[in-house]
Order: sequence, then structure tokens, then C-alpha cells
Amino acid sequence: MKKIGTIFAAVATVILIAVIVWDGYFNKNTSTDFFAMDTVISASVSGADSEICVEKIEACVNNLDALLSRHDEKSEISKINNSSIATVSEKLGGYLSSLLDICQKSGGAFDITLGAVSDLWSFGKNASIPDETELQKVLSECGYENISISGNTVTLSSGKIDFGAVGKGIALDEIRTILDASKINEATVSVGGSVLIYGKEAVKVGIRDPYGNAGRSIASLLLSDTCVSTSGSYERHFEENGKRYHHILNPKTGYPVDNGLISVTIISDSGLVSDALSTACFVLGIEKGTELAEAYGCEAIFITESKQIYTTESIASEIEITDSSYTLIGYEN
Ligand code: ADP
Ligand code: MG
Repeated sequence: MKKIGTIFAAVATVILIAVIVWDGYFNKNTSTDFFAMDTVISASVSGADSEICVEKIEACVNNLDALLSRHDEKSEISKINNSSIATVSEKLGGYLSSLLDICQKSGGAFDITLGAVSDLWSFGKNASIPDETELQKVLSECGYENISISGNTVTLSSGKIDFGAVGKGIALDEIRTILDASKINEATVSVGGSVLIYGKEAVKVGIRDPYGNAGRSIASLLLSDTCVSTSGSYERHFEENGKRYHHILNPKTGYPVDNGLISVTIISDSGLVSDALSTACFVLGIEKGTELAEAYGCEAIFITESKQIYTTESIASEIEITDSSYTLIGYEN
């Protein structure tokens, strides 16, 4: 009897160890933080392939940065910007086509040729208000209509292409492809203000406090398997003569958008769309921004400088306000 008890205990112990090892293997957690694309990237990945995936994520973002950076002379974007006509990879051609569609559908509020205007403002460095004559001259050379794509050949008649509004979202799409091809259960990857929530399990996602530091949120909602991007006027900015100047520009004027918004968050299956539309909808304002988000099947959250929160229709009831100084207005049409 005693012997049976001992055997039973031994078998139970072996099973328990096997379960722990099995669980440890398949739910192995790996995290990393690194700097690329002029921002911090944080990845937390869970699953059997988590270690190798984290390495692949880092390589992927660095490769993408080398492809899209207009400050890197060797990038494909610089190739176009410097020579007006260039043969580009199929990948870059695809991204450019998708972005031109957003430029058109936003009525030019989103414009990927504002590179030289952003350079004049030089947000994040020694920023100052540019000389008006110079600003208007550079602005007159911008316009997404100056880009044409034929096969793998891109022509840019004037202006400088800038992926500043979308590179981080594109990174999320490429990271998702890596995760899909690996044994991964769930992951959260943030590339600056764009976050990929990967996996079936719903995760509570905080909406950043536009007036507080990066870790503080003012509202939350449950999300699974999606991309969330936020554009805010608090990101890169400076003050001169008591006025705040920030990095999201109105392509009509060349000046920072001044429409009462402080941040816009977009939720989309596509990282490219969420990132591009967070910028586009910021420029368009609540009414037209809501229309654009709806046209792309996205959800949107607009926060005004006076702490009011407007949303697209279906998420109005999903948002939980966690800071009572904010008022949820919800959907208004
Ligand atoms: P962040 O870079 O903080 O994630 P955004 O995604 O909103 O913020 O992108 C802002 C960047 O996009 C700017 O720094 C600039 O490079 C570029 N940009 C500014 N205004 C526009 C615009 N109207 N359309 C397209 N790109 C823009
Ligand atoms: Mg953006």
C-alpha cells in the first residue's frame, strides 16, 4: 500500500514538473526596450519563440529605419528625394501607394511631401519659427500630387518625402508578420505612439494623458488583435512668445495645426492606417476626421484642449474615463 502511494506521488510530481516545463516553454516571456526611428521601442512577447522573435523585431525596425529615414543618405527615401526619379523596392512602392490613397482621401490634410517644411521648423532640435518668405517658398514646392508611381519607378517632381507620420505604424505591420510566422501567443509592442496588441485575449489599453507624462492615462478600453496610434501636439513642440508650436502641420499654411485638438487616437487592423490617420484626423479636426476614420473602418478618439473626448460611434460606450477632469462627449453626427 505504501509502495503504491510512493509510486503515485512520484508520477504526480513528474506530471507537475512536465506541466510547469510545458507551460514555461509555450508561455515563455521575453521583453526588450531599444531606441530606433527616433523613438523608444518596447516589446513584450509571450510564446515558445519569444526570444528569437524579440531579436527579429529589433532587426526589422532597424532595417525599416534604414529604408525610410530621410536623414539617412543611403535610404530608399533619400534616393527619391535626392534624384527626383528612382527605382524602389516593391515594398516601398506598396507603402507609397497606400499613403497616396490616404493623402487623396484626406483632401491633402495628410501630405507625405512636407519634409522640407518640417526641416525648416526643426522640431526636436533647435526649433524656432521659420522665416515667413522661406516657409512659403518651401511650402509651395510641396504637394502629394508631385509623386507618381509606375511599377517600381517613383517620380517626385518637387518636395521631400517624409515618412515621419507613418514609419512607426508600418513597423507594427511588419512586426505582426514576424509574430504570425512564429510560435507566439500574445505580445504588446509599442513603437513611439503606435502600439500593436497581438493575441486573442483582450487587453486594457490606456489613452495617454495629453497634459501628463507618458505613463499616465486618462481613459481606457479593452482591445485585442489591433493597432492603436496616437498623435498629440504635446510630442515635439516648443514655445515662443507664449505660443506653443508643435510638429503636426497644416499643409495649407505650413504652420502647426491650431484647431482646439490636443490628441487623436486611431484604432485599426493596419498599423500604417492607424498611424497615418492619427496625423490626418488631427489635421482635419473632429467632424471631417470622424468621416475619414469611418471611411477606413477605423475607430477614433479625439481629445480637445478643453478636455472633452469625442469618439466614433461604436466605441463611445466602450471607453472608461479614469480621470474625472475629462468629459466623454462620445459620438456626434
Ligand atoms: P509622432 O511622430 O510623434 O508619432 P505623428 O505620427 O503624428 O507623430 O507624425 C508627425 C510627423 O509627421 C511630423 O513630425 C512630421 O514628420 C510629419 N507630418 C507633420 N504634419 C504632417 C501632415 N499634415 N501630413 C503628413 N505628415 C505630417
Ligand atoms: Mg501618425
